[in-house]
Amino acid sequence: MQIGVLAMQGAFLEHIRSLEALGVKGIEIRKKNQLKEIDGLIIPGGESTTIGKLMIEFDLMDTVRSLVEDGMPVFGTCAGLVLLAQEIIESDQPRIGLMNAKARRNAFGRQIESFEVDLDIPVLGEDPFHAVFIRAPFLEEVNPPAEVLARFMDKTVLARQGNILAAAFHPELTNDLRLHRYFIELAK
Ligand code: GLN
Repeated sequence: MQIGVLAMQGAFLEHIRSLEALGVKGIEIRKKNQLKEIDGLIIPGGESTTIGKLMIEFDLMDTVRSLVEDGMPVFGTCAGLVLLAQEIIESDQPRIGLMNAKARRNAFGRQIESFEVDLDIPVLGEDPFHAVFIRAPFLEEVNPPAEVLARFMDKTVLARQGNILAAAFHPELTNDLRLHRYFIELAK
């Protein structure tokens, strides 16, 4: 099994490390032909406007979208969550746009640029998941077939729609590998 990590910009190396800690090969994706080799794709955190623009410049946007529509598992974290949402509040930036939800960027306010909390994520078991949020978005109006997997302060911070998984936080920045493992199980 090989999982691609979109390597346009942002925190892609940390995801590769998390995958390798689980014994899965992670491949930095920069070219369209590399998409043929992978069983799933991670879209990392970073700046969603920059990642989206570069995806168009590198001619990856349409191919990634149609692969995800055809069932390729995709996991977006932070900026990656923004890129997966159908609607991005107050923004017309480029996006993959396949999850039936609205993303609000930098949603927790400027005063709290970053913070860490223990989240209750029932699909990962009983132990809380220590989550790192950095200028994080959240999802509003999550509608079927998308479903909420975790909330913080009443806001959706983890959601799934079939083969699409989106987290507002950065699981690649902690040693808890359960969310990456959950994604790999989706990709199997
Ligand atoms: N605020 C960024 C955006 O909306 C996301 C931040 C992050 O990925 N850490 O693109």
